[in-house]
Amino acid sequence: MKRLVILGGGESGVGTALLGKARGFEVFVSDKGKIKEKYNQVLIHHEIDWEEEQHTEAKILNADLVMKSPGIPNKVNLVGRLIAASIPVISEIEFASRYTDATIVGITGSNGKTTTASLTHHILKQELEVGLAGNIGDSFAKQILEKNYPNYVLEISSFQLDDIVDFKPHIAVITNITPDHLDRYDYKFENYIASKFRIVMNQTKDDYLIYDADDEVINKWLEKHPVQSRLLPFSLTKTIENGAYLDNENIIITIDNNPIIMPTKSIALEGKHNVKNAMAASTVAHLLRIRKQTVRESLENFQGVEHRLENVLKINKVQYINDSKATNVNATYFALESMDAPTVWIVGGEDKGNNYSELYRFVNERVKAIICLGVDNQKLLDSFSGMVDVIVETQSMTEAVKMAYKLAEAGDNVLLSPACASFDLFENYEDRGRQFKEAVRNL
Ligand code: ADP
Repeated sequence: MKRLVILGGGESGVGTALLGKARGFEVFVSDKGKIKEKYNQVLIHHEIDWEEEQHTEAKILNADLVMKSPGIPNKVNLVGRLIAASIPVISEIEFASRYTDATIVGITGSNGKTTTASLTHHILKQELEVGLAGNIGDSFAKQILEKNYPNYVLEISSFQLDDIVDFKPHIAVITNITPDHLDRYDYKFENYIASKFRIVMNQTKDDYLIYDADDEVINKWLEKHPVQSRLLPFSLTKTIENGAYLDNENIIITIDNNPIIMPTKSIALEGKHNVKNAMAASTVAHLLRIRKQTVRESLENFQGVEHRLENVLKINKVQYINDSKATNVNATYFALESMDAPTVWIVGGEDKGNNYSELYRFVNERVKAIICLGVDNQKLLDSFSGMVDVIVETQSMTEAVKMAYKLAEAGDNVLLSPACASFDLFENYEDRGRQFKEAVRNL
């Protein structure tokens, strides 16, 4: 019996454990931290051996195969020792994809993965049997075990891609590439770009790469590193022969002279970035032969994903918008760009080495007041003082929302789009978004 050791007892780890056990491995799960109650219950129920708050090397270095959760950096000692011992270390999507022949749509990028994956799934599921997995919901491994759909849309982080070997999506999407998570890539942007492009490394000429042709980082990389798969770019600025582009108020998606035309105003999601996300998702749908009418209707009725420019409530004609998932400057850029009314902007949190200068234009044009919400707001105060009439700070979400309520007038927006990680004051971005919505509802 082959021994499968799983490092990390979270969603992907426990999913892999279940699939591994069902496929005849002797499985051991080891987590340096505490395993959540709901996961260790599953492990106990399935009689899978596990440990927490330690890594017992004697039970790990005897593995035939190791699945490492995406949260564990390659730098940690144990991983080094496994690699030195020539024990293969792979990610969950690599492991799980070995047990399915499903058609895989793999979506990666710095921003827009969840939105694009959810939208793609929403369109495809109208006509196909299709699962949605990766960083969303139930793990890919668990779904392969329990559902085994003939098609999957996967949201894939660079950490998952770092540990693939043979994983090959039939359709790959790269939404965009901007600096993020550089602490895991020796602070070299090049390494992070290379990691994202691993999504195409096993593709052949029968596969596809859909990507943002307005993204210079992607274009430059493709010039230097030709890929095997067929390219289907999308653009807001240029005409594209095979792929998607804007023609006045319409999106045109053409594959081999077969176009779909869709008015941009029929896309339920707002903002230019969502036009791009819609282009990517519709190109996938077109490739998989979803009917034009279905694509159009699906774009019209897709309501978006929680915490991504999510309209919460209108109070006294002021629209409250939750964009808690904007954990970097690029995401906030698109949020501010899509504001169509004077905006009270709640920003701040754990700064990841942000450069705010690309936001100045929108702040000058559209932001009437700034509320800094972080443990340390000095950088925000330095960056934006003088640019707006009012800039205040607080360490409490309730307080921030009350301040916004006082500052906003009929017709304004109140936007939570932090451009920062949430960990200084909140458990995670979901917690931050929920606290915002709760505070708004309590107004
Ligand atoms: P990811 O899963 O890659 O983190 P999300 O879909 O969760 O992406 O969106 C993260 C943030 O980025 C949100 O604030 C969202 O409004 C914004 N966003 C969504 N799509 C794009 C895009 N194509 N380009 C830039 N920002 C985007």
